[in-house]
Amino acid sequence: MEMDEIRAGAVPRFLLGRPKFRGLIVPFTVAQFGKVYDFKITDTDKVAWCLKHRNCGLCGYRMSQAVAFVGGEVSMESRNFTDPPMHRDCARYAVAHCPYLGGKIGYANHYRPEGQKIEGAEMQDTSQIGIGLAKDYRSNRNIIVATEWIAPVEWYVRSGAGASR
Ligand SMILES: [Zn+2]
Repeated sequence: MEMDEIRAGAVPRFLLGRPKFRGLIVPFTVAQFGKVYDFKITDTDKVAWCLKHRNCGLCGYRMSQAVAFVGGEVSMESRNFTDPPMHRDCARYAVAHCPYLGGKIGYANHYRPEGQKIEGAEMQDTSQIGIGLAKDYRSNRNIIVATEWIAPVEWYVRSGAGASR
């Protein structure tokens, strides 16, 4: 599938009830400060809750089957992530519409404030962004490790900064 195709796809139904802020659907795990959401900062309590209950980091609903991780080449190889997994449809939506993941705002290392960054597990400034599908995961402190991929990683070319074309 191409980036254009996932951009043209319907909004996953689980996301329809999410609030919007500045034109973007607000991910479940984004930090909220009063009436303002900061897309660059995760609410670590919500992430921990999602990981414990196997709920999607984007829509907040439970993932009954496979879980999808989004990342660059390094993360797809190591299967180490800092962002929680999502439904595959939610992951595709995020790649298509999140300005950080899709490449419109360059560097994708967006969800961790200074002081919370984790060496080796952050998203790299990458020309392609992947979606990996796994049956399960384990989390060890702030690192989330996916079990082996159960399908070929889907790769999408990022636009704008960091992209090769
Ligand atoms: Zn979801």
